[in-house]
Amino acid sequence: MANSTETPAERAHRTIHAGGEWLAASSGATREILDPADARPFAVIAEGDEKDTDLAVAAARRAFDTGEWPHTPVAERAALLRRVADLLVRDREPLGLLESRDAGKTVEEGRVDIDCVADAFRYFADLVAGEAPGRVVDAGSPDIHSVVVHEPVGVCAMITPWNYPLLQASWKIAPALAAGNTFVIKPSEITPMTTVALIDLLTEAGLPAGVANIVTGPGHSVGARLAEHPDVDLVSFTGGLISGTKVAQAAAVTVKKVALELGGKNPNVVFADACETEEGFDTAVDQALNAAFIHSGQVCSAGGRLIVEESVRERFVAELARRAAKIRLGRGTEDGVECGPLVSAQQRAKTEDYVASALAEGAELRCGGKRPEPSPQRPETGYFYEPTVLDNCHREMKVVREEVFGPVLTVETFRTEDEAVALANDTEYGLAGAVWTADAGRARRVAGRLRHGTVWINDFHPYLPQAEWGGFGKSGVGRELGPAGLAEYRESKHVYQNLAPKPVRWFAG
Ligand code: NAD
Repeated sequence: MANSTETPAERAHRTIHAGGEWLAASSGATREILDPADARPFAVIAEGDEKDTDLAVAAARRAFDTGEWPHTPVAERAALLRRVADLLVRDREPLGLLESRDAGKTVEEGRVDIDCVADAFRYFADLVAGEAPGRVVDAGSPDIHSVVVHEPVGVCAMITPWNYPLLQASWKIAPALAAGNTFVIKPSEITPMTTVALIDLLTEAGLPAGVANIVTGPGHSVGARLAEHPDVDLVSFTGGLISGTKVAQAAAVTVKKVALELGGKNPNVVFADACETEEGFDTAVDQALNAAFIHSGQVCSAGGRLIVEESVRERFVAELARRAAKIRLGRGTEDGVECGPLVSAQQRAKTEDYVASALAEGAELRCGGKRPEPSPQRPETGYFYEPTVLDNCHREMKVVREEVFGPVLTVETFRTEDEAVALANDTEYGLAGAVWTADAGRARRVAGRLRHGTVWINDFHPYLPQAEWGGFGKSGVGRELGPAGLAEYRESKHVYQNLAPKPVRWFAG
């Protein structure tokens, strides 16, 4: 590789990686990456387009069709993934900091993200390394040997969002590589920095040139081209419903495999019996706060919809609003800050519109609902917005039906278990939801009736790399993580061998 000895700083805006080379955009266009805490640029990247995308897809195609990676023994592929995990651990501090500056989250959140990324690489390494190479099928005759084997899909296109830039990338890259694919990734145009850094780590771990490619650039050009490209075999997309629908439509023209991880409108159902003890009440409130406001609510599984039993509603919401008002907002790199800014001016404006519409529709503002006063930790130019609790909400409100993706919690109430379940399922999405109760029978009953891809009982937000992640309804198609997350990146092939071939004489002549 001609320029492999360069540091990322020397490489500057050559952030397109195709066939082992770091390149500027063919048009020469660049984009500034802004720190959401003050709206000031801290990096410059290549603004790629369709031409750059074609170049990267051609490199990935060559590496798949003629390269060694798809045929590399599974044990070697697994060893490489484990080396990547080790490199992530080595670079935890700089990567955590970079994720914080890029996405606005606190550095501690950035560090946790890097730990989770390393876990994903280790999980998929262990999963493929421990597998049987194929499944022997009983064909009913000693003369037939029949086996189903897994093969890589081919060239995978990956399109990722801005809220968990490296984590979402790793849920695609780790299984794709474990299965023997090559790929082209397009990170979000506003938070590409850690994904660019990961490509360097893959190279350092020994991945052959052309296997991992990245094109930085916008969705309407780079993303759209990847989705429609005839040489791409699979497109895996994480992002919003509108872009995801466009990706699915474009991919249908060439009948690609498609995986979609889309939005959510996630219910957090609290029964009064969960709040009977002081400890139970405190835990349920604390976790409701965490569910709604971590990373300023910019989480696909954010518990932005509190559905609480009428009898405890006033006490619960009062305590929740009291604590939400005390969340310390500021630049994610500052000590003591608990929540960073929103990722962009656009995301804050969207949040403000949702709050305004909710108030116009009759919601009661219990806290927040505005930009905070600037402070040394919170520059006026940053995209900050106060954690907001909206009481007296109902299912017809726009803020209850649509994904806000900001620090906004709506409150609805119920009186019976049936009513709670009906409210929790009354969404076009179905990504995640939680039920809080001290009654074990009720917990299992309600969990069984919720139409969501992940259901937490007396918890909110944890996920496991071993367990599938994905949604019912408009939250998506397919699953990431777990064995199904690996299966997305594979084709099954049935190899039927006749050990004693004879004429069949179907045709008499
Ligand atoms: P987005 O849909 O605006 O963008 C996501 C990615 O798609 C970006 O890289 C963007 O450039 C690209 N894109 C945009 N238009 C495209 C097009 N026409 N063709 C191809 N690519 C296109 O989403 P976002 O605002 O970056 O992220 C927020 C959304 O992501 C939320 O809806 C959130 O719920 C969802 N999300 C879901 C999960 C999950 O696991 N289900 C995880 C994280 C985020």
